Amino acid sequence: MQSSLEIYTAKWIIPVTSEIIENGAVVVFNNKILDVGKKKEILSVYHGKITSFDDAIICPGLINAHCHIELSYLKGRISASNKFSEWLKEVISKKELPDRALISFNMKLMKKKGICAVIDIGNDPFWLTLASLSEINPQKPNINYFIHLNEIIDPKGRLANAIPFIPELNTDLNEYEKDFTIGITPHAPYTVHPETFKAIKKISTGNTISSVHLAESGGENELFLNGTGDLVELLELRGHWPLSYLPANCSTTKYLDKLSFFDANTLCVHCIHVSDTDIQILKNNNVSIVVCPRSNMLLSGKIADIDNILKNQINISIGTDSLASNDKLSIFAEMSSLSSNFPEIDPEIILYMATMGGAKAMKLSDKIGSIEKGKDNCIFAFYPGLKIDKAHEAVEYLVKNGENQLDMTKNTCLIWLHEY
Ligand SMILES: [Zn+2]
Repeated sequence: MQSSLEIYTAKWIIPVTSEIIENGAVVVFNNKILDVGKKKEILSVYHGKITSFDDAIICPGLINAHCHIELSYLKGRISASNKFSEWLKEVISKKELPDRALISFNMKLMKKKGICAVIDIGNDPFWLTLASLSEINPQKPNINYFIHLNEIIDPKGRLANAIPFIPELNTDLNEYEKDFTIGITPHAPYTVHPETFKAIKKISTGNTISSVHLAESGGENELFLNGTGDLVELLELRGHWPLSYLPANCSTTKYLDKLSFFDANTLCVHCIHVSDTDIQILKNNNVSIVVCPRSNMLLSGKIADIDNILKNQINISIGTDSLASNDKLSIFAEMSSLSSNFPEIDPEIILYMATMGGAKAMKLSDKIGSIEKGKDNCIFAFYPGLKIDKAHEAVEYLVKNGENQLDMTKNTCLIWLHEY
């Protein structure tokens, strides 16, 4: 904990929610941002320890809005497939107990790649993940904010009445870090009974977020519209087919809307196969969408229609998904992928998705996501491999080349201010 006033200066400061500052400074006290502005003005008002990051770019921490850290053991073990149901079958067939050492390793790596907050989905007891986090450093975990959602798979609705009594929801978190949040979440419309969806929604009120995999494959809509398609085979294999609630004669988005599952606390993950009508439903319910560009490209060969989602002013955040469908857990790599797939989108918008978009999705926009007075000192300095002369080039550099620079320098180009 920093108890004296600290002043950090750099050539470029990207607050995200306001104009980029050239030759700027950030003032930090007790790990909270006290002020941000032009270096000259800041130094005329504040006196404290000055640390200069010279030609670096100071940027808010990135947010990984969708991850399955427990699947880290599957890295490189799943043969790449463009057919989602085949991929899912392989993931299920190779399922093991989570490896705590690997979870710890990947948590550390995420922090080195600029990630300060994660929404994690898990099927195994959450304390395995939590224990791995505390193991690293019980006083200060590597990830500053961690929301763990235990995933429910319940196609027959057997758990509907038991949802309020799930042990994870009744665990006293005081013995761990206060910045960990736990909850439960339905996996997807085709693996969770409507009554269980409703029961989960009922307990996910207030500020608790709920998340759902939505329209990740084309087979999902086919299943809901006609009761056919490749997901039927998967459900048969698992002993889940037939399902009493299918076909539903509508898209999965329309179906969940009928269950009143969507609201401002809902994260809809993927949303690749959504129609204009579906987009209107998501917009009207004020949900957040999470896109996982590298995973989506691997499994589906396409990403959600970002232009259309932006046009409809729906909040977008970015996730890595798991190491079963990605070779790294890096939001820098995801930003670069988004930029190559959507060259028309301004890099500033992509950086916004990776920071404020994620903070809004996590309901933590008062603490993280931008460099503003009163927010946490979850900020890093990034040394680019070249001299940057224009403000927009600083953002463009981070979005397009950040991952390459991290790889080339073995992550040493990124320095967290609170660890400095
Ligand atoms: Zn997922």
